[in-house]
Amino acid sequence: MFEKILIANRGEIALRVIRACREMGIASVAVHSTADADAMHVRMADESVCIGPPPSTSSYLSMPGLISACEITGAQAIHPGYGFLSENAAFVQMLEDHDITFIGPRAEHIRIMGDKITAKDTMKALGVPCVPGSDGGVDDVETAKQVALDIGYPVIIKATAGGGGRGMKVAADEAGLEVAFRTARAEAKAAFGNPDVYIEKYLQKPRHIEIQIFGDGKGRAVHLGERDCSLQRRHQKVLEEAPGPSITPEERDRIGRICADAVARIGYAGAGTIEFLYEDGEFYFIEMNTRLQVEHPVTEAIFDVDLVRQQILVAAGQDMEFRQEDLSIRGHAIEVRINAEKVPGFTPCPGRITQYHAPGGLGVRIDSALYDGYAIPPYYDSLIGKLIVHGRNRDEALARLDRALGELIVDGVDTTVPLFTALLQEPDIQTGNYSIHWLERWLDQKF
Ligand code: ADP
Repeated sequence: MFEKILIANRGEIALRVIRACREMGIASVAVHSTADADAMHVRMADESVCIGPPPSTSSYLSMPGLISACEITGAQAIHPGYGFLSENAAFVQMLEDHDITFIGPRAEHIRIMGDKITAKDTMKALGVPCVPGSDGGVDDVETAKQVALDIGYPVIIKATAGGGGRGMKVAADEAGLEVAFRTARAEAKAAFGNPDVYIEKYLQKPRHIEIQIFGDGKGRAVHLGERDCSLQRRHQKVLEEAPGPSITPEERDRIGRICADAVARIGYAGAGTIEFLYEDGEFYFIEMNTRLQVEHPVTEAIFDVDLVRQQILVAAGQDMEFRQEDLSIRGHAIEVRINAEKVPGFTPCPGRITQYHAPGGLGVRIDSALYDGYAIPPYYDSLIGKLIVHGRNRDEALARLDRALGELIVDGVDTTVPLFTALLQEPDIQTGNYSIHWLERWLDQKF
């Protein structure tokens, strides 16, 4: 087992990894930018190294900085968290060259899934159901028109290098296709340096259902059910729950098995998420994330597992602590993302926290790097905490969420807490009746 792990991240996810390390008797190294000198992850880790100035490109994304920090501290492995370098194949390769273990999948798998056209081709070949669309990339408008005619309008044009909800354009009919196609390519080139796009049927009222998988890198893999992440704004998730209110045990078994088999066949190592759109009882693959997700705690709650611990075990060449038959669901869990943002515009609100009080009690987990007097720097993403509740069933989880939100105090900055309090009053949220478009429609009507 590793003696020391460096965490190439900040905020709540850095704390999450430090906590797993401590329980496993592994020393932790925090890295930070000058803007994060007072951050909680720096205080909580056993050691810390400043790796650069505030902009992430010169600090949290600095590969030489991170490798030097490992060499100075003697860290044998890096946990990347999510975001930053967590899905960067070149980084994984570079670590390998320096004999540092990357806690995550092999570079090859990150590369395949990082290019959405290749990812879709690979998944299709592995028997995973995909959204109907073009066979690979589409380079010119005439081909685009032909594909759209074959699959039927509306269609969505997506950047193969896209991510974070960016690089997508919808065309309702042939008149709109040409403009959508050209803008999608231009935007993809500008944002990702790669103009390649592909076309999919645009699903009208799907839910976003993702399957958590876990592989041991030696050909064995399991699934840990689904998460419903349909409540989104601009393709960004705001609330996630597990199990999905619309998914039956039979559907879960079927799609879960398909996903676990697929990743087992490629010898995938560690945590991964296979994302689907789900409509009228059918699953359609959209992408795979080769890292731990922000919303992993809802899965941990209902399966009673520690996913970060499993990531570390597998990276160290050990076995995961469970087999498929050991995994069963208990109760229901919901996570809300607490962002330092002003609702309804969701404009970021960095600033100083004048008062912070975390909720507690049965079935309540808060993953946050906040503390009284902490100043949220303006340089990074606005997620300041995740509130996760677990109950015996969905109704109990909802009541618990309402109760916990009432106890939470974050003063000094605007947050998304009022959004969740309002959402809990909505009959559709209470019954779980929502698609990926529900939240934006509700926001339009409400504000
Ligand atoms: P990203 O990597 O940017 O997250 P995804 O491919 O995962 O991109 O898509 C993000 C979101 O965009 C989905 O959760 C869904 O809301 C929407 N979306 C993507 N593909 C389609 C589609 N074919 N039809 C309808 N909505 C889609």
